[in-house]
Amino acid sequence: MKYVDEYRDGRLAGAIAERIAAEAARGRDYYFMEFCGGHTHAISRYGLEDLLPANIRMIHGPGCPVCVLPIGRIDHAIRLAERPEITLCTYGDLMRVPGPHGTSLLKAKAAGADIRMVYSTLDALRIAEAEPSREVVFFAIGFETTTPPTALAIRIADKKRLKNFSIFCNHVITPAAIASILDHPDVRTLGAIRIDGFIGPAHVSTVIGTQPYKFFAEEYEKPVVVAGFEPLDVMQAILMLVRQVNDGRHEVENEYIRAVTEEGNLKAQSEVAEVFELREAFEWRGLGIVPYSALRLREAFAQYDAERRFPVVTEPVRDNPACECGAILRGVKRPTECRLFGTACTPETPIGSCMVSAEGACAAHWTYGRFREDTAASVGQRAAS
Ligand code: SF4
Repeated sequence: MKYVDEYRDGRLAGAIAERIAAEAARGRDYYFMEFCGGHTHAISRYGLEDLLPANIRMIHGPGCPVCVLPIGRIDHAIRLAERPEITLCTYGDLMRVPGPHGTSLLKAKAAGADIRMVYSTLDALRIAEAEPSREVVFFAIGFETTTPPTALAIRIADKKRLKNFSIFCNHVITPAAIASILDHPDVRTLGAIRIDGFIGPAHVSTVIGTQPYKFFAEEYEKPVVVAGFEPLDVMQAILMLVRQVNDGRHEVENEYIRAVTEEGNLKAQSEVAEVFELREAFEWRGLGIVPYSALRLREAFAQYDAERRFPVVTEPVRDNPACECGAILRGVKRPTECRLFGTACTPETPIGSCMVSAEGACAAHWTYGRFREDTAASVGQRAAS
């Protein structure tokens, strides 16, 4: 397949791995965070960490939209769905994310709530048009990649004067999350995590461009390489990061030139800016309250804002104390450092959000990594005996 197979060539991956090993052989360690869940998935799926020398450590970041939603927002969605007049439309992954006290959207649906799985915002819009007696609420989540389609749906609903369509808005902003990670005491003062550079998001950057990352490169002196989601993209980005670190540079470089420009998609940015404005604060799982890190509908579109139209009472809720999703999303822990990984918590019985989405670090590690590690361990044991 064009533009896919070329980027999955194992021989080329091996050649880049050799270059990385040669150029990283300077008696130091390199710690790189891949912000995006798509990269986490690619690293696990293609076993890229096995190709890297031991002195390069990949740290999984918080760029999985399902994973970063705090449990309180899941609770809020469940309470919306429990209102008899509401049909809640949501992506399939979200239905399985555990809420407080063993709840989930899936269980609420089984108990009678009108919750429907959709593949896009426009599906929800079609349901609203087809069923005018229902209040159709779309559970809108995601980073800058999924925000333009939601803005488009709001514009269409407005044009058609649809009175029974609204969104429960949970769209979040990538640069704010990166700043929050770099400002977190784990990075700044406690030394619990070291980050020498970032692999910047692929799809998000097609919308926002490479320009917004310049701030981190300059202010925090961290190199950023925007990369595609294919294995050769990731390997090339790691080589580019190693070279920046070796040269003492901290620049924004673009490996994903086939899709990302410096300014991004200006049309999509303007659509989003017309419909949404920044929230002053938003809670993220793992990162806590992050200022100006999420969007809400502008006053002109308030009638499409489910939070204003259907107030629900929620109480502060805490994550399962045994779940390490928060630490994993900050890059402080790895999935296997959670004692529930692969025992009580599996993709069939997720306890935290990181085990639900395919882009979640725990789910990716379970699907592609666990068996390799188990095999390596048992081979090692056999060799030793
Ligand atoms: S394995 Fe499960 S419980 Fe542990 S951190 Fe991951 S999602 Fe949370």
